[in-house]
Amino acid sequence: MTKADAPIAKTAEPKRTPEGPQSSQWADRYDRVHMQVFGRPGRVMDHGRGAWIWDLDGNRYLDMMAGIAVNALGYAHPAWNKALTEQAGKMAHISNFFASQPQIELAERLLDLAQAPEGSRVFFANSGTEANEAAIKLARLHGARMGGHPGRILALTHSFHGRSMGSLSLTWKPAIREPFQPLVPGMGFLPAEDGDAIEEAFAQAETSGEPVAAVILELIQGEAGVLPLNPDYVRQVRELCSRHGALMILDEVQTGMGRTGHWFAFQDHSLSGGACPDVLTFAKGVAGGFPMGGMITFGPGPSGLLTPGMHGSTFGGNPLGSALALTTLETIQREGLLERARQMGERLRAGLTDCGNPLYNEVRGRGLLDAVQLSAPCAGDLASWALDHGVIVNAVAPDALRLAPPLIIQADQIDLAVDILSKAPVSLGKGLRQDGQ
Ligand SMILES: *Cc1c(COP(=O)(O)O)cnc(C)c1O
Repeated sequence: MTKADAPIAKTAEPKRTPEGPQSSQWADRYDRVHMQVFGRPGRVMDHGRGAWIWDLDGNRYLDMMAGIAVNALGYAHPAWNKALTEQAGKMAHISNFFASQPQIELAERLLDLAQAPEGSRVFFANSGTEANEAAIKLARLHGARMGGHPGRILALTHSFHGRSMGSLSLTWKPAIREPFQPLVPGMGFLPAEDGDAIEEAFAQAETSGEPVAAVILELIQGEAGVLPLNPDYVRQVRELCSRHGALMILDEVQTGMGRTGHWFAFQDHSLSGGACPDVLTFAKGVAGGFPMGGMITFGPGPSGLLTPGMHGSTFGGNPLGSALALTTLETIQREGLLERARQMGERLRAGLTDCGNPLYNEVRGRGLLDAVQLSAPCAGDLASWALDHGVIVNAVAPDALRLAPPLIIQADQIDLAVDILSKAPVSLGKGLRQDGQ
């Protein structure tokens, strides 16, 4: 829908906020002591407020990435800060030999928000990959119960489920998976959205005696570039899993907790086709910036598989994280942030679709989990141009930008981000920078 020949608006150029000396010096120090897995940091940051963050040189950035879809309430939200200091003043950590009120209330709240049936359960961990490790262990137990064989766990092409060895085995991108072979056996990939392929996988499992224990999928493949699955396909996966007794595991690590304008993406029928999971994993946004993840099992079947001693976590569900998650969820509710995510997402997608910059081919997403498909593989250069001009976006693929701002973002901030991004020089798409960089 790009108006390819429309001129780029010639209003005031966005102000540049280049990397200053403080940020640069600290980034050099970072480089000398950190393992080289993330590359040089874009900036060294100092503090944030709402959807804004400042670097060490006092430059201000509008954060359209929110710490990779984590900072649901933005930076330094008063309710979050209050919960942090109150709970830290009481007790931060107690181990799972004990329980706390915030943890119990949080589990109750999550089951309620997920509309989980009687007999459903929650397990708390500290990250997305750990949440998926729990789901993998559960799937192993389920497979063994199905017929003496642990069975196979299937993921989709372009999936991302994490980087620990189990979830990495279900993460598709060869460049991040293959250096670590041998990986966990009994796992495989299905071509995403290929109905015949999954029919065949189940049929083969019947004849080989190695059942499909579980299928794991993301309703919007986030790390692949914010690619929503076809709801008809999702419904087909659900039906096949039900018919063959396999678990359907939804990885809602990125899509959960209001990000798509619903508490969970599966509650949006345009994504799930009405399918409900047997197991759901969550993390990223749940505690508004405190590391937390976990797993919800739906109904008594999957909920009874893990028994005492079979799994655990030292930190999982600790009172501090639980209090912050409770506050995050309460604030999303109180401030109407699901509705806001839907409205602001629409505004963002419409703004970028209509801005007339020929670099932007297509805009997609739900709520505030969105991406711009670029007409050239210049996402990295475009993201650093945007950073220099005061907007944080994420080059999620060589030819796609991900936009996942905090759910508290305001309409004028969306408009500002669109305005700045609309002015990205077309020369970026030709590998040329026109701004002297
Ligand atoms: C980010 C992500 C993970 C991994 O989460 P970590 O907290 O980085 O371990 C897993 N699955 C999905 C869908 C994600 O987006």
